[in-house]
Amino acid sequence: MAPRIDQVKCNLCGVCIENCPGDCFEMGAGGDGVLVARPLTCWHCGTCEVDCLIGAIYVELPIMMLA
Ligand code: SF4
Ligand code: SF4
Repeated sequence: MAPRIDQVKCNLCGVCIENCPGDCFEMGAGGDGVLVARPLTCWHCGTCEVDCLIGAIYVELPIMMLA
């Protein structure tokens, strides 16, 4: 599952874009905010959720990873 970004909380700092090892994020054009542009390259490492200091990212683990 793709990470979810709370666009209201997000301050567009870009840390998640820089630090994601899967290159999942990109800055949207025209004020679209940060987009999960490549959700299929996410392997749910949790880096973005930890690095986003204002808690604007939530990584939902697939059911098979919760077992
Ligand atoms: S790290 Fe958090 S606040 Fe910064 S751009 Fe990403 S989602 Fe927004
Ligand atoms: S969980 Fe890891 S791979 Fe997935 S978007 Fe966040 S930092 Fe990138």
